[in-house]
Amino acid sequence: MERHVRLQVSGVVQGVGFRPFCSRLSAEIGLRGSVRNTSAGVAIELFGDPEGIDSFIVRLQTDCPTLGHIQSIAMVLDERITEADVSSFEILESGSPGEGNALFPPDIATCPDCLRELRDPRNRRFRYPFTNCTNCGPRFTIIEGLPYDRPLTSMAGFAFCERCWSEYNDPVDRRYHAQPVACEVCGPRLSLLSGDGSPLAEGDEALRECTRALAAGEIVALKGLGGFHIACLPEDAPVLRLRERKKRPAKPFALMIRDDLVAEGLVTLSPYSRQLLNSPRRPIVICPHKHLSGISPYVAPSQDSLGIMLPYTPLHHLIMEELPVLVMTSANLSDEPLVSENGEALAKLKGVADLLLVHDRPITMKIDDSVVATAGKRSILLRRGRGYVPHPVMTKREMPQILAAGAEMRSTFSLARGRTIYPSQYIGDLKQLDSAIYYEKALRHFLKLFDLRPTLLAADLHPSFACTGIAKKVIGVPENTLLVQHHHAHMAACLVENGFEGMALGIILDGTGLGSDRHTWGGEFLLGDARTFTRLGHFQEAPLPGGDRAVLEPWRFALALMERTLGQDAARSMAEKLWPERKHIFEKILSTLDAAPLTSSSGRLFDAVSAILGVRAEVSYEGQAAMELESAAKDYAEPAPFEIREEGGVLILDWKPLVEWLVAEGLHLGPGKASSAFHFGLAEALSDVALELSRRTGVRETVLSGGVWQNKRLLSLALPLMERKGIKPLIHRVLSPNDECVSVGQAAVASLHWGVKPA
Ligand SMILES: [Zn+2]
Ligand SMILES: [Zn+2]
Repeated sequence: MERHVRLQVSGVVQGVGFRPFCSRLSAEIGLRGSVRNTSAGVAIELFGDPEGIDSFIVRLQTDCPTLGHIQSIAMVLDERITEADVSSFEILESGSPGEGNALFPPDIATCPDCLRELRDPRNRRFRYPFTNCTNCGPRFTIIEGLPYDRPLTSMAGFAFCERCWSEYNDPVDRRYHAQPVACEVCGPRLSLLSGDGSPLAEGDEALRECTRALAAGEIVALKGLGGFHIACLPEDAPVLRLRERKKRPAKPFALMIRDDLVAEGLVTLSPYSRQLLNSPRRPIVICPHKHLSGISPYVAPSQDSLGIMLPYTPLHHLIMEELPVLVMTSANLSDEPLVSENGEALAKLKGVADLLLVHDRPITMKIDDSVVATAGKRSILLRRGRGYVPHPVMTKREMPQILAAGAEMRSTFSLARGRTIYPSQYIGDLKQLDSAIYYEKALRHFLKLFDLRPTLLAADLHPSFACTGIAKKVIGVPENTLLVQHHHAHMAACLVENGFEGMALGIILDGTGLGSDRHTWGGEFLLGDARTFTRLGHFQEAPLPGGDRAVLEPWRFALALMERTLGQDAARSMAEKLWPERKHIFEKILSTLDAAPLTSSSGRLFDAVSAILGVRAEVSYEGQAAMELESAAKDYAEPAPFEIREEGGVLILDWKPLVEWLVAEGLHLGPGKASSAFHFGLAEALSDVALELSRRTGVRETVLSGGVWQNKRLLSLALPLMERKGIKPLIHRVLSPNDECVSVGQAAVASLHWGVKPA
């Protein structure tokens, strides 16, 4: 007797060489049958020895291709048969699209095999900048729909040459069914354009000209995988010119570095950072900057670290052969989204780039480089983009289809269905019109790609967020809308990511978010689960003078904190010492302070400390004051003081003792030691808060979320302090702690309010 089974495999199983893998495995075990892509994943039919089939199923999971990830294997048929009219194992054409549940991989860095060919003068793909295979190359950025097959990618317009076609159709070739397969003869080509768009060179000549121009100090826009970069040498003159042209005075630029060896001369590489840098995701990794690295100080002004990445496309590898280090920053103007189309690049980068190196493979969906910082062996995702998207977050419970609209500043959206939440890539600040357009385009793209039609909407409490409006425009009038409080969404995202379903405490620290009481929250101590929460405490509130201006001018909130701590006269005279050039406006601010809105923001507290210590009183990008404060910290073992007290059953973390200490002692110690004491003192105070709340509630699991937790110094200090007190911190792993995670949390909260099916 023979056995006949049909398997339905879901997960990341398309575009990763999964079908050739099935073909090899069946040949090895001696089974017959077929495999094909479906829009729900991969369908496998097997005929043969019963035990052989069992071992096939086991090895499907244990030997799965590196880039693949099996989510589930469902046996839809299992029968005994006497004979079957099947004599071989075949890879069949894709089935017709149905309910789309398939996952596909992110864009993957060039693999070692392709790299070898790229450098081999005898190979027909020698120096071909678009080479790729089943194990590497573009995916997310070229897909237009599922199933993942060439006609539904931006490679549809490139007809295979004979040799590529035979590789594509040969089950033992490493390019078998690799959708973006191409070569010099049939594939995408490079062109070098002048700043005003006139063609200068084509193909390899374009590449060589571009490298020569970079070496001569020119600024070049390069079309990459997810969009354009702007590249130049990391030297004073080109970097200053780029800052001037890009209207970006201080925000750090990332560097692309040829390899580990070159990186070691510039930054301190921990084994974990090295591993992240070299991973197929190839994120930008933030590493401590070595002195005398030779990198211009204008690359990352007032920062003790550099964001570096290794080349991740063949084009990058070819350029970096000539130039070991290049500034490689997203091509955009100030806070706009990055540029991804050739025409758009010419229009928007006019006057920024001297030259443009473009190609004719369209980018279907633009995406920024991901940025990761490390604290020990932990990754802190600062921006989730290329290499990570569209990997989903898996949940323990079934969910209806939900669209979660996210937050405003670091916006993302999320789509939920079944046990899967698909978070979008980082989109940006929706106050920028172009970001709002990008948001809408990405949302429509995700809906089409995953074949979703959500009628349930989860959104922020804030009545005027652009994302909520765009979401409604795209899906129509929702059947039901749930408004989710911002910090509760942070907490729920972290709970879902950690698969934790019980009650937890939350220490949610960020800039601002609208609270349930209509106040501006931002330093919150919560108790709850992914369904509901109560606010057990918060940072001491203070007036935020100047509204949005307070974000750009941290000295304003610093003045308010000093007034609340020292009284008006002492605050005024201290402010006159600290910021004499702004003397003329102090009186007006102080006299209207009582009318300013109150906030418990912890992010603004970091800004204010930075302003008082003379690190940064005004900023040119959000978070600058806090980042520079963290960078300034020098080792100093004393904690700055905070007070924890109770007011009407609510726990208050008060910064008044801190402010007193800053003006009395901190200023004498200098910004390095005082910043260190501030971080240490706050970490200690937060661990005491967690301990106190844990005593009161019996709950030990504590979620740490919110943009402030991107601060690696604070996180590295707080985690061991909390653990020593018996607290179990829950932190983000695959999502960013900043507002990018809010949409995932909104989806999680809403799913528990609407029709939960039992787990
Ligand atoms: Zn490859
Ligand atoms: Zn070809």
